[in-house]
Amino acid sequence: MKITAIETHVCHARMRNWVFVKVVTDQPGLHGWGEATLEWHTRSIVGAVEDIATLLIGEDPTRVEYLWQMMFRQHFWHGSGIVRGTAISGIDLALWDILGKVAGLPVHRLMGGPVRDTIRTYCHLGGGRLEDFYQGKREDARRFGELAQKAVEDGFTAFKSMAVPETMPLEGLRPVKYAEANVRAMREAVGDDIDIMVDCHARPSPAMGLRFGKALDPYGLYFFEEPCWPESVAGLAMINQALTTPVATGERLTALEQFRDLFEQRGCEVCQLDITHCGGLTSANRVAALAEAHRISLAPHNPQGPVSTAASLEFGFAQPSYIICEAVHLDVPWRQDVVDEGFVVEPEGRIVRPNQRPGLGIEINEAEVAKHPFEQEIVERTFYADGSVGDW
Ligand SMILES: [Mg+2]
Repeated sequence: MKITAIETHVCHARMRNWVFVKVVTDQPGLHGWGEATLEWHTRSIVGAVEDIATLLIGEDPTRVEYLWQMMFRQHFWHGSGIVRGTAISGIDLALWDILGKVAGLPVHRLMGGPVRDTIRTYCHLGGGRLEDFYQGKREDARRFGELAQKAVEDGFTAFKSMAVPETMPLEGLRPVKYAEANVRAMREAVGDDIDIMVDCHARPSPAMGLRFGKALDPYGLYFFEEPCWPESVAGLAMINQALTTPVATGERLTALEQFRDLFEQRGCEVCQLDITHCGGLTSANRVAALAEAHRISLAPHNPQGPVSTAASLEFGFAQPSYIICEAVHLDVPWRQDVVDEGFVVEPEGRIVRPNQRPGLGIEINEAEVAKHPFEQEIVERTFYADGSVGDW
C-alpha cells in the first residue's frame, strides 16, 4: 500500500479557515482525513503540507510512527515550529484514520481500547460565535450571566468565558473588578453545580495573572486558562502554586520538551494540548504519558473544525487522565453539513458516546467544503490605551 497524494481542502468558517488534510492511497476508496487548522496561517499551512508531501508520496501509510519521524526529523529543520507542527499533525491524523480503516477499528481501540463510557464536553459562551466569545463587551456582567444561562439551557454542564480584559503589564484594581463582576454574574446565573472556566488568552503579565487569579479564586473556577504567556513557565508555576484554582495551559506548545519543562516546573494542573498542533495523535500520546507521570489532567484545546473534534474524542476514549473536551457548536450554522460523524452527542449534559466506525469515524463532504472557499481571516489587532501593542 502506498500514499499517492496529500491534499488540502480549505473551508472558510467565519473566524477561521478549517484546513482539512486528505491522504490518498493506491487502494481504491481508501483515504484518511486529518485537520491542520491554524488561524491567520492558512496559506502557510497549505504550503507546509505540500512541502512535507514530497517526503511521503510512495510510502506505506500504515507506518504511522515511522512517517512521523520522517516528517519531524527530515529536511534538517525539526518539525516543532507552529506551522510545520500543525502540518505534521494534520497528516498524522489522516494516517491514523487510514490505519483504523485498514484494521477495521476505531482509533481509540487501536490505542488500547476505551477507558471510559462517555466524554464530557464544554462550550464557549455563545457556542463559539466570534461576537459573543471574543468581541463581547467585557464590562457587561449581565451579558455574561445571560450567556452562561443559555449554555446550561443548551445542555452543557461546563462552559468557558473570556471574562478577563486586556491589560497592560501592570494595572490597578479596575480590570480586576471587571473580571470579578463578570465571573460573579456567571456563578450567580448558573449556581455551584455547573463548572465555569475563564480563559485569559495569555494576555496578562505574570503579576496581573496572579492578581486576576486571586480575585477569581473564591468563585471556584474549574480551571483558569493561560494566565500569562506560555513562554513564561516560571510565571505559570508561580500562579499555579498561589491559587486553589487549577491553572490550565498548553494549547500553543508543539514540542515534547516544552511539555516536559512545563510539567517539571508544575506550571499547570490541566494540560490543554492541541492535537492539531502538537504533532497529531502520535505526539499527543507521548504528551499524555508525560502528563500521567505528573498526575496532570488532559483537556484538549479544540475550537477548530470537525476532524479536530473527532481526533480529540478518540484520544479521550483511550487516555485515563482525560477530563473534558472543548467543543464549539454554533460557530457556523452549516457545521454538520460538511461532516458525517461516528460519535454520538447526548443533548442532555452534552456528553459523547464513542464512535464505533473504523478510524476517526468521519467523512468530510468535499462538495459542501467547496461551498466555503478560503477567505482572509478577520484581522484582530489589540492596542492598549497608550497605543502600545497588546496580546489579542
Ligand atoms: Mg485558550
